[in-house]
Amino acid sequence: MCIVFGGGIRVAELNLLQEKILSDGVIRPGNVLKVDSFLNHQIDVPFISELGKEFKKLFGDRKVDKILTIEASGIGIACLTAVYFGVPVVFAKKSAGSNMDKEMFATEVMSYTHNRKNHVVVSKKYLKPGEHILIMDDFLANGCAVSGLLDLVKQAGGIVEGIGICIEKGFQGGGDALREAGYDVRSLAVIEKMDAETGVITFR
Ligand code: 5GP
Repeated sequence: MCIVFGGGIRVAELNLLQEKILSDGVIRPGNVLKVDSFLNHQIDVPFISELGKEFKKLFGDRKVDKILTIEASGIGIACLTAVYFGVPVVFAKKSAGSNMDKEMFATEVMSYTHNRKNHVVVSKKYLKPGEHILIMDDFLANGCAVSGLLDLVKQAGGIVEGIGICIEKGFQGGGDALREAGYDVRSLAVIEKMDAETGVITFR
C-alpha cells in the first residue's frame, strides 16, 4: 500500500499514472475523481500512449483480436493501447434504440457519473463468435460498465482475455468482484481511499 498526501508526502514509489493523478487529479464529492486535463476531456496523447505500452506489457502474452470499450471516455486509452497490439477498437455506443434491432447486440449500463441507465449497443458486424477480446475502460468503480461489456462479448460468443483499466476505485468493489468471478483485471492505479476534504489519496 502506498499512502500519498495531496500536498506531497510520499511513502512509496509511484508509477506514472499515480504521479499524474496526484499532480492533476481533483477529488469531487460523491467519490468522483476528475482527470479531465489528461484523460477525460483534454487527452495528453503521449502520456496515454505510455499507458497503452503498459497494457501491452501486461496483456502482451494473450491472443487479442480486438479491444472493446464503451463511449466516450474509454476510447482514448483503448485506441492508444490498440496501436501496440495492432488490432481494431470497437466501442459500445449509447443508443436510444430498442432491443428489437436484430443487427445489434444490446445491453443496459448504469452510468456512475450521470446516475442513469444507458442502452448500449454494438453492431454484430464488429463482434464475432470466437474472437478474443480485451475489455478496457478509463475507470472501474462498481463494475457496471465492464459488466455490460462482458454481456456484449457473451452475446457475441467471444472470449474475454482480460480487463485493462486505467484507474480502479478499489473501495467501490467492482474490480475485486470481477477478479473473484475469475476475470483477469489489471488496473494501472488502484485507489483504496480518497478524501475530497483533505485531498488524501491512498493507493493499493
Ligand atoms: P462503474 O460502471 O464501474 O461503476 O463506473 C465506471 C464508469 O463510470 C467508467 O466508464 C467511467 O466513465 C465512469 N466513472 C466512474 N467513476 C468515475 C470517477 O471517479 N471519475 C470519472 N471521471 N469517471 C468515473
